[in-house]
Amino acid sequence: MTTTARHEGKTALVTGGSRGIGRAIGRRLAREGALVAIHYGHDRAAAERTVKEIEADGGRAFAVHAELGVDGDAATLWSAFDRALADQDAEAGLDILVNNAGITVPRRIADVTEADYDRVFAINTKAPFFIIQRGLDRLRDGGRIVNISSVATRVAYPAIVSYTMTKAALDYLTLALAEELGPRGITVNAVAPGYTETEINPTLEIPEIRRRYSEASVFGRLGDPVDIADVVSFVASDDARWVTGQWIDASGGAHLGP
Ligand code: NAD
Repeated sequence: MTTTARHEGKTALVTGGSRGIGRAIGRRLAREGALVAIHYGHDRAAAERTVKEIEADGGRAFAVHAELGVDGDAATLWSAFDRALADQDAEAGLDILVNNAGITVPRRIADVTEADYDRVFAINTKAPFFIIQRGLDRLRDGGRIVNISSVATRVAYPAIVSYTMTKAALDYLTLALAEELGPRGITVNAVAPGYTETEINPTLEIPEIRRRYSEASVFGRLGDPVDIADVVSFVASDDARWVTGQWIDASGGAHLGP
């Protein structure tokens, strides 16, 4: 029996792909044959390291720069992507778009400033919206959009209220777009991690917080970025062609509640 890598011949873009969950997604998609654009904001060295890791695994990748959360970010991202693809001598177009880049505002409502609020919405909600909008002519029919949401849109986490709102908006973007893009065979889904061991969670170094976050999952451990990447790879594959408009839990059951 012959097997084919399931993303062979596909081109993917992972925003915030230089580290954490995005890095794991980029590595996984590349391992299964995709040519992967690793988008980054300011950490060029980390993006280049991820590209090198992918190449060392036998995959193909390149880095694309655009600071999100500033005016015109989506246009900057797509022109950088187009240029980089041309440099790679790769065919123009995209099959898999993963909106992964995000930030959090770990504050209760009383402490959230207007600047915090605007920034978290600009990066987590507005950027994916316009990246999708501006990318629609590049995204091939039959393509995949995967938005990285959060289990926080199903379980109340009071200390990240503005962050949760940005992800809830992303969930509804996912639902509405799945309907709009269906006639083109494009699926749109959200994958929702729970507490995952990445730099977005610096307080994991505190043993008590680490224990509490681990216990949020029914499996009693933190998520590993690879746990999320495996789900994204499935959702981005042909195996998931009949799945669209879904919010897919990847939190180890943290959505089940205490
Ligand atoms: P992370 O901080 O390691 O990664 C976030 C990525 O987004 C980084 O590559 C960062 O450079 C990029 N980014 C942030 N602001 C940017 C900007 N202005 N311009 C360009 N790029 C920018 O954290 P992570 O956990 O890997 O987060 C990935 C996604 O997963 C995020 O959307 C996050 O909300 C979501 N998520 C994470 C967890 C968790 O516990 N780690 C839980 C639920 C959801």
